[in-house]
Amino acid sequence: MDIADASGGRFPSNPDQALACLTDIHTWYRSTGPIPDDEHTIDTLASDPSPLGPPVTNPGQIFAVGLNYADHSQETGLTVPDEPLIFTKFASSIAGPAHAIPLPTETCDWEVELVVVIGSPGRDIAAENAARHIAGFCVGQDISERKAQMAGSPAQFSLAKSHQAFTPIGPWITTLDELATPYDLAITASIDGETVQSARTSDMIFDIPTLISHLSKVCELRTGDLIFTGTPAGVGYSRNPARYLRPGNLLTSKIEGLGVLRNAVTVAQNSWSAVQCTS
Ligand code: ZN
Repeated sequence: MDIADASGGRFPSNPDQALACLTDIHTWYRSTGPIPDDEHTIDTLASDPSPLGPPVTNPGQIFAVGLNYADHSQETGLTVPDEPLIFTKFASSIAGPAHAIPLPTETCDWEVELVVVIGSPGRDIAAENAARHIAGFCVGQDISERKAQMAGSPAQFSLAKSHQAFTPIGPWITTLDELATPYDLAITASIDGETVQSARTSDMIFDIPTLISHLSKVCELRTGDLIFTGTPAGVGYSRNPARYLRPGNLLTSKIEGLGVLRNAVTVAQNSWSAVQCTS
């Protein structure tokens, strides 16, 4: 629904701006909030999120954590880092929970991740206070073009992870009060129904409060900032033989209690696949 209309103009319709008044929106909705129409209930949107755009459209900062699950570190052959390994994804790569992902090359890979959405801003946030700065969680994919990501020495991640629609998030933001065990959720990715990643978010090496504390020692965390908290084992490039996304695949990313992303993998215009997909 348009929350500006529904609230008689009290709240902004831009979801990024609405995040700044989340507590007031909660209070308003629980007391006088309208009922969504039948077409757009949580149940219908869970099975078909296509009416939804990304729940944060233009985050100021997107932090991402590399090698934050031991089994994923192991499959890449890299040692577990002593402190969080941070890179960025650029905001123009944000996409919704059912947007198509056009492949720019033949070597694009999947990484399902829990995404933290920052609510109240802060610097030097102690780990024990981290939850106060979290608006909620959503599901994310850190789509990665592996050839460019691994080409340099040292490797550089950010551009290779920021092609168009390489950062689908959603289907919505779940506040922590909706979750019995917010730091221990089942996380899976599947391709055309075949499970390729399956883990629990409690397997993270650096947990979410530690990540928030670590990042906020350097950067002010601001409302709407996103933290991609790392992916578990099962990505394509560390398989033997390596496996990558193909045009026509349906990539499904799911986290217990947070919902599901259903992104169709398609062909980027003027790229390799415009030819290959007809063969
Ligand atoms: Zn990642």
